[in-house]
Amino acid sequence: MIAQSKIHDLLDKAVAGERLDPAEGLRLLESNDLSALGRAADEITRRLHPEPFRTYNIDRNINYTNICTAVCDFCAFYRSPKSSEGYVLERNVLLEKIQETIELGGDQILLQGGLHPEFKLEWYEELLQDIKQHFPQVNIHGFSPPEIHHFTKIAKLPLKEVLERLKAAGLGSLPGGGAEILVDRVRNEITRGKVNSDDWLNVCRVWHRLGGRGSATMMFGHVETLAERIEHLDRLRQLQDETGGFSAFICWTFQSEHTEMADVPTAGSYEYLKTLAVSRLYLDNFANLQSSWVTQGLKIGQMALLNGANDMGSLMIEENVVAEAGTVYHLTLDQIRSAIADLGYQPRQRNVFYELIDEQANSVVPQSRQNEHPLPIVN
Ligand code: SF4
Repeated sequence: MIAQSKIHDLLDKAVAGERLDPAEGLRLLESNDLSALGRAADEITRRLHPEPFRTYNIDRNINYTNICTAVCDFCAFYRSPKSSEGYVLERNVLLEKIQETIELGGDQILLQGGLHPEFKLEWYEELLQDIKQHFPQVNIHGFSPPEIHHFTKIAKLPLKEVLERLKAAGLGSLPGGGAEILVDRVRNEITRGKVNSDDWLNVCRVWHRLGGRGSATMMFGHVETLAERIEHLDRLRQLQDETGGFSAFICWTFQSEHTEMADVPTAGSYEYLKTLAVSRLYLDNFANLQSSWVTQGLKIGQMALLNGANDMGSLMIEENVVAEAGTVYHLTLDQIRSAIADLGYQPRQRNVFYELIDEQANSVVPQSRQNEHPLPIVN
């Protein structure tokens, strides 16, 4: 264990707004001094978000198909194209789910699926157009980078053209799923037939250059080393320097139940909070970090707000992928709001662009909440 005094200088440096290098990030991750890391991360959160509120979102995770040509050892959700358990959601079912989401106060859907072997780009365009025609007010946070990369292969079209066409059809923002750990040694060990690290980042890069926004994620606690965890954060930070297009970062622990990697022990709450805190210290150009109560539960999800997160994430009316893999928590809106209020913050609803959209919201969004320029770039 590295003593607190040894990391004290690094924590002071990060709190002062100076950038940590990968070796320094690794020293923090190796330190095990959660209380010191959490305090420093919280100082940064309070500097970036001096507002008297903390936020949450209401959306629905709609998995339009579980049929997937890739094989990810950590995934209990997918079915091979030959499986009798594969599904593609009927359009009327999908539209009903969106209607229910709106009735529950949601303004967005998270639309993701497996890598279907046959659907052409036109199928996805038509899907987006249909949704927008029925629900023009709903933001479609859709198609993670592995899906977009897959679309380019099926369509045999350049990435930029695919993204332009999806955007024109109604795609609103890009979820940062399927990143796992953006180090190819790790990816090659746990996935086959899925986008590599460079291509994952490039999907985000091109989307951001088209003016799009999206999130970034990290699933950790499996076969990666701590240095690879930092390398992942570093690659995200570099791309954020380049584009400024990431609106938020979300990390969660690998849930191993019912997967091919069930023998991998699940990282606990301590590891989760420590990694979240180090992420806040390291990702100096990300405005927003979300809590992952879906994998951590209410109490640790609430503690995340004191260890680097400024947002409780989404109410998530449906979550199939993590649920298939075992441990998954369901919270009500009241529980999310109470978790925020118990810490002395006002609970406020936001949209995917971190604009406040509840009844209290002013027509003018405070500059610090806008995502056009999330934070000054620190070099
Ligand atoms: S994680 Fe995604 S790409 Fe991998 S098998 Fe599951 S659905 Fe397919």
